[in-house]
Amino acid sequence: MLCPVCSQPMVIVEFQNVELDTCVDCRGLWFDAQELSQLFELAGVPHQYHALESQLDRLPHVGARRKCPRCRRPLEPVRAPARRGAELILDECPRGDGLWFDQGELSALLEAVLGDDVDTLRNVRSYLGEFLTTKQVPGGTNDTSDTPPRT
Ligand SMILES: [Zn+2]
Ligand SMILES: [Zn+2]
Repeated sequence: MLCPVCSQPMVIVEFQNVELDTCVDCRGLWFDAQELSQLFELAGVPHQYHALESQLDRLPHVGARRKCPRCRRPLEPVRAPARRGAELILDECPRGDGLWFDQGELSALLEAVLGDDVDTLRNVRSYLGEFLTTKQVPGGTNDTSDTPPRT
């Protein structure tokens, strides 16, 4: 599959039967339908967020459209829960193929849904850190969180 942002082939990272596609260039992440729920469940995110992907508000799109890596239809912007005063807009396939996170957006979403539950947030972060450090990602350093790399 090609990255919706850079059109480069993405690589697959796998952990406990959840397979994600990630772009090594822009460090975006593609979740197929249900994968976000599976990951939330594995990572210990509270129950009320497990169906999050079906509860996102569609927004009017502006500017260039990214294309779904599965069906090539333009992705729709959707509003995800965000920290107070912040806004988090993800890209969702109109057919429900999946959800695209730009670099840093998964982290932002986790902060929003976990709120002040710092312990869970720390656990989820270390869990996802492990998830994202599979050896299939080239150039593997310890910098595998979805925080921006220094360039
Ligand atoms: Zn990319
Ligand atoms: Zn699609």
